[in-house]
Amino acid sequence: AKKAGPGTVCFFEASDDRASRDRKALQSDLEGAIARGELFLVYQPFLNLGENRITGFEALLRWQHPQRGLVPPSEFIPIAEETGLIHEIGEWVIRRACATLADWPDDIRVAVNFSAAQFHNTGILQTIVQALADANLAPHRLEVEITESMLLSKYGSAVSILNALLQLGVTVALDDFGTGFSSLTYLRKLPFSRIKIDQSFIRDMLVQPDCTAIVKSVISLARDLRIGVVAEGVETADQLEYLRQIQCDEVQGYLIGRPMAADQVPALLHSKKHR
Ligand code: C2E
Ligand code: CA
Ligand code: CA
Ligand code: CA
Repeated sequence: AKKAGPGTVCFFEASDDRASRDRKALQSDLEGAIARGELFLVYQPFLNLGENRITGFEALLRWQHPQRGLVPPSEFIPIAEETGLIHEIGEWVIRRACATLADWPDDIRVAVNFSAAQFHNTGILQTIVQALADANLAPHRLEVEITESMLLSKYGSAVSILNALLQLGVTVALDDFGTGFSSLTYLRKLPFSRIKIDQSFIRDMLVQPDCTAIVKSVISLARDLRIGVVAEGVETADQLEYLRQIQCDEVQGYLIGRPMAADQVPALLHSKKHR
């Protein structure tokens, strides 16, 4: 075994300690975050290229921490998942997104992100039904985004929840498409409404010929399967132009719009800037 001096060991222990204390602090802060009104949603638009209009928004969670400022979801969602807080947070996200969507035009949808734990909790169906009813929304206006890693464990329960959602009329998108190992298998077996090509492919699409081929194939595959396809992480006009050329349905990314506060959405829907 590798020998390490006591000093070295001590150093790592100390920094591990600090990290875990920090995590515990964040965890206890997160417990009251909903009640204190510190969580909020921002909305990032989908631009439909064929229809030449904004067709919807992805709801992305934010936490305004009183001392730390804005904490990114990559930092607090894993904590919420480990502690089980994700169930309460996830319910809040669904209810909040539906209530907000009720103020927007009928041809606008909102997509919410699901965590694996939430997806395997059948109580989620009741939450969705109730949130849609309370906001008086047609079910097709709500979309759920799941990743393929959520299908890996408990595949059977994933399939039944997926089917129950579709039965309700809620659409389901396969997020981060292409980053897992069996995306194509899932596509063949499960009735997704839409796939979202991961932003890593879009980033390299115009610089790596292999990547160009993959994006092109995924778009034509989606067309043949008659499901929608969204390109994530579109940042440049060249990327947008290329995606238009190869007839991608929808695009999302900083070029089209950054995630924004709900009250900025009506102005975006009225402006023609995105065209
Ligand atoms: P995601 O679902 O893949 O969301 C896309 C992420 O890419 C978002 O980061 C978005 O702000 C960012 N993004 C959008 N356009 C661009 C672009 O053009 N360039 C680049 N570089 N990035 C772009 P965000 O908001 O930090 O969210 C990170 C992840 O946190 C999400 O990845 C999702 O997995 C998770 N998340 C966010 N909100 C929720 C939620 O309400 N519930 C759950 N369970 N997870 C959430
Ligand atoms: Ca997503
Ligand atoms: Ca994604
Ligand atoms: Ca992601």
